[in-house]
Amino acid sequence: METTGLQFIAGKRRSGTSGEHYEVTNPATGEVLATEILAGPEDVDEAVAAARAAFCEWSRATPAERSEAMLRWADRLDARAEEFARVESRNAGKPIRLTEGFDVPGTIDNVRFFAGAARNLEGRGSAEYSADHTSAIRREPIGVIGSIAPWNYPLQMGAWKILPAIAAGNTIVLKPSELTPLTSVMFAEAAEEAGIPDGVINIVTGTGPIAGQALVTHPDVAMVSFTGSTAVGRQVASQAAGLVKRVHLELGGKAPFVVFDDADVEAAARGAVAGALINAGQDCTAATRAYVQRPLYGAFVERVAELLDGVRLGPVDDPATDMGSLISFKQRDKVAAMVDAAREAGATVVRGGKIPDGPLGQAAYYEPTLITDAAQDSAIVQQEVFGPVLVVLPFDTDDDAIRLANDTPYGLAASAWTSNVFRAGRATREMQAGCVWINDHIPIISEMPHGGYKASGFGKDMSAYAFDEYTNIKHVMTEITGDQHKSWHDVIFTSS
Ligand code: NAD
Repeated sequence: METTGLQFIAGKRRSGTSGEHYEVTNPATGEVLATEILAGPEDVDEAVAAARAAFCEWSRATPAERSEAMLRWADRLDARAEEFARVESRNAGKPIRLTEGFDVPGTIDNVRFFAGAARNLEGRGSAEYSADHTSAIRREPIGVIGSIAPWNYPLQMGAWKILPAIAAGNTIVLKPSELTPLTSVMFAEAAEEAGIPDGVINIVTGTGPIAGQALVTHPDVAMVSFTGSTAVGRQVASQAAGLVKRVHLELGGKAPFVVFDDADVEAAARGAVAGALINAGQDCTAATRAYVQRPLYGAFVERVAELLDGVRLGPVDDPATDMGSLISFKQRDKVAAMVDAAREAGATVVRGGKIPDGPLGQAAYYEPTLITDAAQDSAIVQQEVFGPVLVVLPFDTDDDAIRLANDTPYGLAASAWTSNVFRAGRATREMQAGCVWINDHIPIISEMPHGGYKASGFGKDMSAYAFDEYTNIKHVMTEITGDQHKSWHDVIFTSS
């Protein structure tokens, strides 16, 4: 079988050596997009060696040199934006409107942001904090970063790992999900074409238990940065702890969406539908649990149901399609099983709750689903569904809203909908999440950090805060008196 070559190591595409043949498919049609022999431990070894070899030159390049290469990379990506959007759409089952309007331009903007930020790494000012010394801070790259990304936003999640790491002078080996490797390899290839040296960015396409494990436990990988489920993140963190490696974890989410009784109900209903269905709900910040204050509850549920009726499922390359397929039959069946369990436990399925009839039902599509009457402690409210499912629950007091919003293990994102500045302020302070939106849900921006609280992980992607993950802070202390007898020597020498 001819393979496509989905490993990108030391600036070259090639196939893996594990012997395991794999078909990369379009989950919206079942079409095979690429075939590959997946990466095994030897491929990971080779990729880490390439990253290690590239580290010396890249880490010593000036920020301006790194920045210029990254800007050339952004220009190349601009020129190929349409191709990236098409491939991402087909590989992940996303509507072309989403990849053209969000995934690809967002990624290119991130490249430009980090090209600029590379020249602006900050530390505390140099000064005499001790009377006899000048102190300065050096922010230094850590070394070879091992990164692992999920399948929901393949290009963006890979970019969020790669960009701050290399802007700060590290080199990287990224393992995308084997389901969605295509744009990660194209992204690394475009970097190489733009003049980023071979070995700075390497991609190994393989499974978690084989290539992922080999990367996490590799002795020459100085830090592991992981985006994925909380269950796998926990495993990765415990292995990294045993090896005393730095870890950065972006994990699952179960974002609450709180609608107070002074909110604009139309704005909130539209926000809830868009926030729940973006990427077919396979978004770690998706609106999953709407808590609506009782006076607005009926009107909100009714309007959300009407809006769901207008959402068009269809082929992903049709610009009229609003929602595409889920990533796989496995994911679709997991979503279906969670909705069925909620129904059996007494919840009401107001809309959807099934695989669509007709041809879409032959692929991994699932209907946009609205659930009410679920118990707060039920699985559909507490656990990540990662599908197009919105649960709506009523609440009475503001205290109830905050308590219910915080009542899951996760803390990635949350939103509050209100026209009252005091309610907005209280929600901002008390909702336990790495991002709180007021009167919106979902938008992100390169300059601002993304990352979780609680079981959603720790550390930040995007923004200058990401540099805190990917740099070591070195204190340099220089004695400035030149005295042979330093004042602090009194603690050792009794007489001078
Ligand atoms: P996953 O945890 O199953 O897999 C994520 C990655 O880890 C994949 O590349 C996978 O191959 C790899 N992996 C699996 N087992 C591994 C192991 N034992 N060792 C090393 N690597 C291993 O997650 P997924 O299903 O691909 O993605 C969905 C999850 O990602 C959801 O929980 C979602 O919330 C989360 N996510 C979080 C963020 C965030 O920013 N917090 C962003 C996107 C997705």
